[in-house]
Amino acid sequence: MQLGLSGRRVLVTGGSRGIGRACAVSLAQEGATVAINYVSNDAAAERTYQDLLAIGVKAYRFKADVTDLQAVRNLLAEMNETVGGIDVLVHSAGISLPDDAASPEIWDRVIRSHLYSTYYLCHEIAEIMKSQRWGRIIAIGSIAGRGSGASAYSVGKAAQSHYVRGLAPILGPFNITVNVVSPGRINTDMIPGTPEDWGAFARAHIPVYRDRNDYPGPELIGEVVSFLASEQASYISGADLPACGAAYTGL
Ligand code: NDP
Repeated sequence: MQLGLSGRRVLVTGGSRGIGRACAVSLAQEGATVAINYVSNDAAAERTYQDLLAIGVKAYRFKADVTDLQAVRNLLAEMNETVGGIDVLVHSAGISLPDDAASPEIWDRVIRSHLYSTYYLCHEIAEIMKSQRWGRIIAIGSIAGRGSGASAYSVGKAAQSHYVRGLAPILGPFNITVNVVSPGRINTDMIPGTPEDWGAFARAHIPVYRDRNDYPGPELIGEVVSFLASEQASYISGADLPACGAAYTGL
């Protein structure tokens, strides 16, 4: 399928590593111009940036903390200046901290990382996309945000999904689609363990499991995100799409 993403200008937050990196690579393979954002790990960002250039597209990298409103504004101004605008936002930046209900400080960091960053980015980018009357906003959620849960991570993901889906009817008239993709566990730096652990986990908990090196990799999510960014997905908006190999099947 030709996804028609050639020339689309994409910002992938958290695009230097893990799921964000896989989204950036997949979108670049479809011909998009890709800007990755990250917060601290310059070496990982440089590696991904070079990989994107090697695919043969225009690529950019922007260091900015997306939990900080002014940093988000600066990032978008820089992107506007150097890339010329933004057509697609993939918001993958996020953290998970052990025992995140344990202290108010950790709770605050985790909630900011998933909810505030999403609000700041969408609030600022919606105005840009409205003026061009086309856009795609795709937030990486998590099946941890489904059902109940008392951790900051699951509460942050549930609130992120609620907010993003709520934007869909508001932005729909401007030809902007807004969706969440909610992965199950994916092998990235965020998840501790070995390939053996992952093989065992997948066999026990992931019914639809494409065997690649014995654990589900982030490219599975990159492919879904590229589709949602495409013209073919223009009638999908306001969805929170689980991409978890049927590990979760609730509504
Ligand atoms: P990784 O830890 O592999 O990558 C995190 C990325 O986010 C890095 O690029 C990191 O930059 C960036 N980042 C973190 N905080 C900020 C910030 N404040 N501002 C800008 N960039 C930031 O995580 P994953 O790829 O695993 O996770 C990506 C998303 O997917 C998250 O939202 C996560 O909750 C979600 N998710 C992950 C699952 C999994 O099993 N891995 C399952 C379900 C959802 P730097 O390199 O500079 O630190």
